[in-house]
Amino acid sequence: MNLSKSRYCSGLQCPKILWLNQNKHEVYDKSVENTAILEQGSVVGDLAMGYYGAYIEAPFNKDDKSAMIVETKRLLAAGCKTIGEASFAFEGNFCSVDILRVFDGYVEITEVKSSTAGGDEDDVAVVDEKADSQVKDIYLHDMAFQYYVLTGAGYTVKKTTLLQLNRTYYRDGDIDLQQLFIAEDCTGRVLDLQQGIKSNLDEINALADLKTEPEREIGMQCIKPYLCGFKKYCWRHIPENSVFAINGTAMHWNKKFASHARGITTFEQMLESGEKLSPAVLLQVKTEVEKQSAFTDKPAIKEFLQTITYPVYHLDFETFMPAIPPYNGTHPYSQIPFQYSLHIQEEPGAEPVHKEFLAKEGTDPRRALAERLCADIPKNVCTLAWNMSFERGRIKTLAKEFPDLADHLMNIHDHIVDLIVPFRSHDYYDRGFKGRSSIKLVLPALFPNDPELDYKSLHGIHNGGEAMNAFLNLHTKTPEEIAQIRADLLAYCRLDTLAMVKILDKLHEVMVE
Ligand code: SF4
Repeated sequence: MNLSKSRYCSGLQCPKILWLNQNKHEVYDKSVENTAILEQGSVVGDLAMGYYGAYIEAPFNKDDKSAMIVETKRLLAAGCKTIGEASFAFEGNFCSVDILRVFDGYVEITEVKSSTAGGDEDDVAVVDEKADSQVKDIYLHDMAFQYYVLTGAGYTVKKTTLLQLNRTYYRDGDIDLQQLFIAEDCTGRVLDLQQGIKSNLDEINALADLKTEPEREIGMQCIKPYLCGFKKYCWRHIPENSVFAINGTAMHWNKKFASHARGITTFEQMLESGEKLSPAVLLQVKTEVEKQSAFTDKPAIKEFLQTITYPVYHLDFETFMPAIPPYNGTHPYSQIPFQYSLHIQEEPGAEPVHKEFLAKEGTDPRRALAERLCADIPKNVCTLAWNMSFERGRIKTLAKEFPDLADHLMNIHDHIVDLIVPFRSHDYYDRGFKGRSSIKLVLPALFPNDPELDYKSLHGIHNGGEAMNAFLNLHTKTPEEIAQIRADLLAYCRLDTLAMVKILDKLHEVMVE
């Protein structure tokens, strides 16, 4: 099998990926791919090409790799000094280099990733390769493969650089490419990996070329470094209520695989094994196996309800996270709020009044959202959020960005109460929560047959990730599409705060049962 750099990296993750790709592609689960992340990656890649100044991009041709190689040779012969997507092949292995710099007698490879790097504000932009690095191993293998192909093809590669977004870069005016990216010299580590490449290629090819499906035990390779698109297929023998369904904060993946390897996979086996289970794991497993009904700790719930005063403002934000900071004061992947929903309840059980805000697509939403928030939520009232650190974080950032609104915004911030508390502490537990406290699990468990409270019945947008992706590209859509997506966004966010109203009412009901 001929390998590209992405196939080589997939093969290192698990050679069976390549076999299934070639022989059983119909079982691939496309939902693991996040098109918005891929699109952002390509935006970052395009921008990064200018990092070293003027450049020529070799046109991408997905159907004809040899045309890309021919074009690269032409550009090199013409004396181009910086080439984007320069393509090479060696012994059937192909790679495109994100940025190739050409010098007298040697070249330099730069690989661009849309991940972030950098730490404290004091960090210098260029990190010495000897410094402690958080570079993902797979990036190094990716670059090592490119080095292998280029040197095999007869080029002298003197340097291999990884370019990532600088997480400490705050936009101020035009984008400054030198500050937006962090260049990390990875040459030493890439050289260290060279001796293993030939045997890796042999091993990957031997397995990928098998006539029959290779046996491969499930393991960490199914989820790291990337979630495998064949997981549903390879994991089809794992029951729904297995050790892998345990809440990740209660049991780490390593422990789950170790348990599975010991033959302890199902919830029943976990109980029968006699192995010690943490209280959180025991709660999830036992309530499910014994089909227990919901239970409540009334004194604890009463104590929680006493922290809420009426009228209560149920608040939920939606945010988007562009890789390239779009506005002054934002950094790569800033969580920028563009929408909120607000349900206001005068007293327990009362019919709520609904307010909402959704920014105009393609505009900076922050100021308008902050102003409306201050108009909609008076000072000194109780605001309710689900997992409040998220809402608090966004409000605090807005307060820093708009000092004239800071006093009011921080007043809202300081009066937020977290509705997740009784669910996170298991003062109210239903086995439908599956050991978690996400509102997406709590709501259907508490209101199983209410179509008005069913996220699945929503059109188009069913979770925060979909809302984020929808808003990111909203300005590129037709007016009809924009109208539909805006309606979907409003319906989705509205349900998040309506869910909070219903859940709070449910807590009050518990107290009078
Ligand atoms: S799901 Fe796991 S075992 Fe199956 S191909 Fe993917 S990584 Fe390999």
